[in-house]
Amino acid sequence: MMRLRPILLSITPSILPLTIATSSFSTFPLGPPTSSIVPPGSCQLDETWKACKLTSSKSLTQDTKLLTFSTPDTTSPLNLPTCACILASGGEDPTSDSAAPYVRPYTPVSTNSLSGSFDLIVKEYPTGGLSKYICNMNVGDTLDFKHIPFNVKRQYPFNRTHVAMIAGGTGVTPMIQALHALLGSDEDETKVTLLYGSRRKEDIIARDALEVWERMSGGRLKVVHVLSEEEGDWGGERGHIDKGIIQKYLPGKEQDVEIFVCGPEGMYGSLCGPRGEEGVDGILGEMGYGPDQVVKF
Ligand SMILES: Cc1cc2nc3c(=O)[nH]c(=O)nc-3n(C[C@H](O)[C@H](O)[C@H](O)COP(=O)(O)OP(=O)(O)OC[C@H]3O[C@@H](n4cnc5c(N)ncnc54)[C@H](O)[C@@H]3O)c2cc1C
Repeated sequence: MMRLRPILLSITPSILPLTIATSSFSTFPLGPPTSSIVPPGSCQLDETWKACKLTSSKSLTQDTKLLTFSTPDTTSPLNLPTCACILASGGEDPTSDSAAPYVRPYTPVSTNSLSGSFDLIVKEYPTGGLSKYICNMNVGDTLDFKHIPFNVKRQYPFNRTHVAMIAGGTGVTPMIQALHALLGSDEDETKVTLLYGSRRKEDIIARDALEVWERMSGGRLKVVHVLSEEEGDWGGERGHIDKGIIQKYLPGKEQDVEIFVCGPEGMYGSLCGPRGEEGVDGILGEMGYGPDQVVKF
């Protein structure tokens, strides 16, 4: 659990479950940061597909859902290492020769302190394949999941003075995993800055929860929202995350900093070069951050 700093005294425990709903959408019940680290190789899901039952589906924003699935063994946690994703398979992919199901990666946002289930946040794309399929599942339906070594990403502890996170939309999901570990581990003093790009205020995922985590962190976590399509009042940053915003908020390349990037394809292209390519191009490359400082999730 997060170490309590003096500022926490001003936050009543009733805020922690974060169940204050706005409009018809559910608020993401993130709870306090919780460290529950397990080594790679411990996950209940392995390299064979396993059917998991959808037990709850709630709208978080107009196009994202929080979906809870049962783990295959409902008496123990998922035991996913931090950070890592899992693969989901379902529907029928018309681009495949034999109408095979879609297969796509998703990043659980629940921790291993949760026994018997795991949570995904999934954005439904209007022309999407699996995202549309998942977001239209009914409670009680099952979806196949597996977890392969390739799904294991940068592992906690990160051993840096500062971890910077640049996320777009559902790209915040691996950042939530990392934040649970960073802020929930007693001895951890890492500073964290999250630059989080969304279209409009109402598209920001887990905004309330991130705000509470920031206030509870005693100055360790800074969250900067950057909105690209907000037309109304907004006191924060606007546009896309660019060189100016990175220079304004993130430590320079000479610092002991690592930058985690996760978002849509275009974000990788402009910030660090394509996700599948090693090396750092784009704005971060121009600014001199090296491959040992940039992690493409
Ligand atoms: C490591 C990893 C972890 C991921 N974790 C999550 C997660 O936790 N939650 C989540 O919602 N997604 C996550 N994704 C994205 C997810 O894997 C799928 O790519 C996404 O759900 C779209 O799949 P689809 O089959 O619906 O769309 P596809 O059939 O693959 O694409 C159809 C169309 O949808 C649109 N589209 C698809 N993806 C994007 C995009 N990223 N940006 C803009 N337009 C797009 C485009 O118009 C595209 O032509 C993750 C991706 C990776 C690589």
